[in-house]
Amino acid sequence: MSVQVVMAPGHEGEEPVRGETVIWSSPEPTCDMCGAAGVRERATVDGATWMGPWACMCDGHHKMHGVGIGTGKGQRIIGWTVFG
Ligand SMILES: [Zn+2]
Repeated sequence: MSVQVVMAPGHEGEEPVRGETVIWSSPEPTCDMCGAAGVRERATVDGATWMGPWACMCDGHHKMHGVGIGTGKGQRIIGWTVFG
């Protein structure tokens, strides 16, 4: 078994920046909030919400519920790992 990293569209070749961007260490993350509505949408941010808990969010939900990008706020998901 090997681990490969898949970069998100638009983030090809980027290195993660601590506190700002992250390579998700599991398969492609999906938006928790879209998921609650039965929709599968790729998550672009792992971050805090104004309600408190952290969540994986798509751009739209991050705009609505996120508190920003940076240490303690959230990280952009620029890629994820795939086991094969
Ligand atoms: Zn969403």
